[in-house]
Amino acid sequence: MKTNKLLIAIDGPAGVGKTSVGKALALKYGLGFLSTGIMYRCLGWKALNSKVNLQDEEQVYQVAKNIVWDFEKEEDSNLRVLIDGQYLGDSLLSEEVARAASITSALPKARAVITEKQKALALEGGIVMEGRDIGTVIAPKAPLKFYLTASAEARAKRRVLQLKEKGQEANYDEILKSIISRDERDSSRKTAPLKPSEDAILIDTSFLTLEEVINKVLELSRTNAS
Ligand code: C5P
Repeated sequence: MKTNKLLIAIDGPAGVGKTSVGKALALKYGLGFLSTGIMYRCLGWKALNSKVNLQDEEQVYQVAKNIVWDFEKEEDSNLRVLIDGQYLGDSLLSEEVARAASITSALPKARAVITEKQKALALEGGIVMEGRDIGTVIAPKAPLKFYLTASAEARAKRRVLQLKEKGQEANYDEILKSIISRDERDSSRKTAPLKPSEDAILIDTSFLTLEEVINKVLELSRTNAS
């Protein structure tokens, strides 16, 4: 298998393990890794900081179109996303930014700006991209597509554990509510809704450990990549 230009798509809802799985695949095949949700989080962050109305398509479009994107490859193959020369780091991880990302990413004009950028990255190849619409919109011709799922309850439990491990407060009910409402918004929007492409390999991770998911995906990638 010629892997240096390989393109792998991973889609699925929030908290399903796409990033860990994607990074493992990228390391295995010597590819870059991009979490495309980071770009939508950057847009949400900038829209919040510019104090525009998050529902106003024209205002959010202006914010999106003026962002200058840079991608820096890190040692673990991750592509670090910079906007306007700035790396936003942990400030992108708050529930407020996640919500702003979910609202603004549903606006077609703003979304088109980011979609175009992501399609160009996919076209270059040599990358694992994870998101919601990689297999359906960004890279419909990717030779390897995975769609990971898990119940909202399983994902909320994982998130609680993650936060507790970091010594942070975690309220299961609130996290579950936020996951369900983000799923609902991401799946019901008209443009590029969250859904598996017809040719994606579906994996339900509800009852699997992260290690088991990674092993399964690596195994499937060996048998399915041409
Ligand atoms: O994956 P992550 O949770 O960081 O994504 C944040 C939000 O960005 C998602 O809830 C979704 O609304 C949006 N997103 C998207 N398309 C993608 C990736 C993320 O609409 N390809």
